[in-house]
Amino acid sequence: MSNRLQGKVAVVTGGTSGIGLATAKRFAAEGAWVFITGRRQAELDAAVKEIGANATGVQGDVSNLADIDRLYEAVRQKQDRIDILFANAGGGEFSPLGAITEEHFDKTFTINVKGTLFTVQKALPLLRDGASVILTGSTAATKASSAFSVYGATKAAIRSFARNWMLELKDRRIRVNTLSPGPIKTPGLHGLGKTEEEARQILDFLARSVPMNRLGDPDEVARAAVFLAADDSSFVNGIELFVDGGMVQI
Ligand code: NAD
Repeated sequence: MSNRLQGKVAVVTGGTSGIGLATAKRFAAEGAWVFITGRRQAELDAAVKEIGANATGVQGDVSNLADIDRLYEAVRQKQDRIDILFANAGGGEFSPLGAITEEHFDKTFTINVKGTLFTVQKALPLLRDGASVILTGSTAATKASSAFSVYGATKAAIRSFARNWMLELKDRRIRVNTLSPGPIKTPGLHGLGKTEEEARQILDFLARSVPMNRLGDPDEVARAAVFLAADDSSFVNGIELFVDGGMVQI
């Protein structure tokens, strides 16, 4: 490690598993103080232990605005600023058009669209001038795939958020970029199947749709997040960075 984030304060929502946990570990290893969120206290405690001494866990759901307020109150009390905000928490339901329910629609939009919007909006008073905001998109916003239409629509909204907020925040030199993973081996991806066998088939199919013929590792996304967070990307603004083994190019 080269201490690229030495002395910075980072917030990672959904930091207890998958991409969020891998990124929180990288941020901490690069010298940042990291606040992570997660919905379940036990998982949060385990993740904080794994990240190390310079991590704080704040239990909460990004769908709930009071929980987001509590997160930033904790940041205010401990560090009083944010240099890096990684709005990573996300997920949802996956069904083909005929099977989409109102509940499925509401849940997916609430976590990904409402959650991201208020995670960033409520951070504004704490975000330092020159901060880096990283939103989480997905190749699903760009590529057609059965059962992903609602999820893909939420991730398309994220791209729009990033472009608009980049402009709105330019006077504070806050950069806003979207990090869009392809299929990455995380508990979230594994949960796509209703059975072990179905999950295996989905993972095989996804791996074959990547030109590199494999799934990505959470740490491969984390390393790209470090780039967007650090001064290495000081003139990179409003982009969508795909970490997908070339998937969106075909
Ligand atoms: P994961 O399920 O392994 O981890 C998700 C994390 O988000 C967990 O810490 C979970 O507690 C948290 N979370 C979920 N809903 C939340 C909520 N409402 N409030 C607070 N925290 C919540 O998932 P992952 O695969 O690491 O996904 C992380 C992000 O990357 C998501 O935004 C997902 O849409 C996106 N993404 C993942 C993939 C992939 O293949 N894994 C691909 C593209 C995009």
